[in-house]
Amino acid sequence: MFGANSAPTRRAVLAATGGGLTVGGFQSVDRVEGSSAVELRVRVYPDERLGWGPTARDVHRHLGRAVEWLQAIADERLDRAVHVRVETGPTVPRGPLDFDTEKRLYRSFRDWLDETDAPEGPVSHLFLADAPFDPDLGYGIANTHVRGGGRLGAQAIANVGATEVWDDRTVTRNMAIHEVLHTLIRDRDARAVNGSGCEHDLGAVVGETPDRVFVTPLATSYAGEGGGEETTWHGTGCYHHDRFSRYDVHPDLETTWHHTWVPSDATCKAVVRYLREW
Ligand SMILES: [Zn+2]
Repeated sequence: MFGANSAPTRRAVLAATGGGLTVGGFQSVDRVEGSSAVELRVRVYPDERLGWGPTARDVHRHLGRAVEWLQAIADERLDRAVHVRVETGPTVPRGPLDFDTEKRLYRSFRDWLDETDAPEGPVSHLFLADAPFDPDLGYGIANTHVRGGGRLGAQAIANVGATEVWDDRTVTRNMAIHEVLHTLIRDRDARAVNGSGCEHDLGAVVGETPDRVFVTPLATSYAGEGGGEETTWHGTGCYHHDRFSRYDVHPDLETTWHHTWVPSDATCKAVVRYLREW
């Protein structure tokens, strides 16, 4: 896998979009006449144990890159302006949080947002948890959508404490992007684009060579056959590799797994669909 300081090649990044398309290469097929602009915020809140240290800063930077990528595609394909801001929120104190179960953590984060007058409306609030020994939480969770989650928008949690300990920075980045993407895609968007209602199937596993593959954010932690293969902790939702938007793993070869923060083409299409219809 890539170390924290190395980056995928341009070729690998383009290959990992699923079709090798550049951002400017899309046709305008989803025009919405006379629609108002989309104003969307992604707000990042680190666990107080992490603070705005190197991990949170790196996640914030790569979320920004992924969002810019999506925004450029949405701008080309929609007749409405799309403005997405990735913001730095305050650190979240441990006191108000309940790490007992995934659901309690999610609710206590939402309550804390409420008590601290966090911004309302179409906001994706992302908590970067530091829980490296909490396999029940797994690598992350997201339950709602930015427009369907009520007054406070959507909440998502990425357990970057775990990804940093058990995998590496590229997995940390992808899981943060992965959870935010869940707040920007509905099952029906996934089904319309990819024929499968599972949002993870929108992800792609793209072979640069037959034994060297790149995993995009929504496929991250779902791309291997089990834990310890692609990532140390494995996703627990739906995963059927034959339904992925692209899956180049060769069953007879030993695979070297890499991760790219660039969302797959199918993921971009699903987000554009959501932005068009909201
Ligand atoms: Zn997921």
